[in-house]
Amino acid sequence: MSNPHYSFFESVQKSFDKAASFTQLDKGLLEQIKACNSVYQMRFPVKLDNGHIEVIEAYRVQHSHHKTPCKGGIRFAAEVNQDEVMALAALMTYKCAIVNVPFGGGKGGIKINPKKYSTYELEKITRRYTTELIKKNFIGPGTDVPAPDYGTGEREMAWIVDTYQTMKPGELDAAGCVTGKPVTQGGVRGRREATGLGVFYGIREVLLMEEEMKKRGLTPGVKDKRIAIQGLGNVGYYSAKFFSEAGAKIVAIGEYEGAIYNENGLDYDAVFKHRKATGSILNFPGAQNLDKNSDALEVDCDVLIPAALENVINGENAPRIKAKVIGEAANGPLTPEADEIFIQKGVLVVPDMFLNAGGVTVSYFEWLKNLSHVRYGRLEKRFTENQNNVLLDQMESLSGKPVDGNIRKNILHGPEEVDLVYSGLEETMITAVNEVMDCWKNNPSIPDMRTAAYVVAISKVAVSYAELGIFP
Ligand code: NAD
Repeated sequence: MSNPHYSFFESVQKSFDKAASFTQLDKGLLEQIKACNSVYQMRFPVKLDNGHIEVIEAYRVQHSHHKTPCKGGIRFAAEVNQDEVMALAALMTYKCAIVNVPFGGGKGGIKINPKKYSTYELEKITRRYTTELIKKNFIGPGTDVPAPDYGTGEREMAWIVDTYQTMKPGELDAAGCVTGKPVTQGGVRGRREATGLGVFYGIREVLLMEEEMKKRGLTPGVKDKRIAIQGLGNVGYYSAKFFSEAGAKIVAIGEYEGAIYNENGLDYDAVFKHRKATGSILNFPGAQNLDKNSDALEVDCDVLIPAALENVINGENAPRIKAKVIGEAANGPLTPEADEIFIQKGVLVVPDMFLNAGGVTVSYFEWLKNLSHVRYGRLEKRFTENQNNVLLDQMESLSGKPVDGNIRKNILHGPEEVDLVYSGLEETMITAVNEVMDCWKNNPSIPDMRTAAYVVAISKVAVSYAELGIFP
């Protein structure tokens, strides 16, 4: 996302300003939406396994309090700095607004390379960080709810919730102080695949737009679309899975060590297993090895899904990209120069800001589950199945024909937690895509879907401020 001339936070501000010029909002209100509300920079000591003490630098930023709690991941990385955490927190505000997740944006970071620490040291750092957040009221189910990000996962979230619950005994909603927890610690089913599934739902919705597809010489629908994916990690793997299951062909996959191509389609799971077994995606049976890993971006395909790193599509390679639709599964895979080129070429870029919001959306469902203290589906599953049973029996007795076994099973099925999470995510992504597309259509001077997404986000945050009565 960063640009050599600006810091990361400044480039987010630049994109904001570009989009703000398409709104009629008060200048002061725009300044308020843009600003980071609270920045907490901390230093704390940790005793390492070798007995030495190290001072740890860490941050938590609450970009916007227009809705509370604030929400955003915690990153463990050697490059963490205040500017980066502020930028990421701001992006969370806009992302949550677009997908109608009622949170302000937040982000946290600890400036460490987690690979250099033992598990015990990481646990001490995470627990101490949580304590520092508690001291300043920077964590809690109603104030600020962290989640995983680079270098953190379910394990760290479990340490955080345990520390919080220990220090806040008896707090009824304490489990909602963090999301991305293991299911046994109050997590929700469906969280792991949420981002890839959200990417699928978002792109599918765009592919169903007849007019948009016609403009780009494509037929509407997912079936038989040729997809190229960069990165077979969490987001790339699940995107490939859901597209394959819907009848699309994964024609190219790029990974760290190289790229492979098969015009008839690759079996994503077999490629994943081949990589696990051999340490590389190259030499996958039936596929052609491509020269460079970035070649996966440039193959002949309909949809390109960069799901690995930032800035991989830039002014240099964008002219060679053949895809008609690009779905930004990763954060910031396109540079502003690439954006300009795709506007000229008429390529539809579905922006990261809402396309990869599946994770935060399902985090919201996890938080709701924690506040309600009940697993999704627990109350209605049996009830629904009993009702469906009565209906089926009636149908069979009226028609005199039995309903086929598999169909019967499908109709009978009452919702499990994972069914409800998928359904909520599908609804969220469909609504978000359509709101952004409508904004773009209604303002033809807006150059691209990314700017339209910012306009939608800014307008929604502005409405919240207006409702709070801060700007009557
Ligand atoms: P991951 O680490 O699971 O996967 C990334 C994959 O990209 C890895 O398999 C890695 O080997 C591969 N890769 C690295 N360098 C590459 C290169 N030069 N060429 C091709 N492949 C390369 O990470 P992830 O969680 O899947 O995240 C991927 C992107 O999606 C990141 O930008 C992340 O910020 C974004 N994202 C992730 C989530 C989430 O829920 N995991 C949510 C929102 C956004």
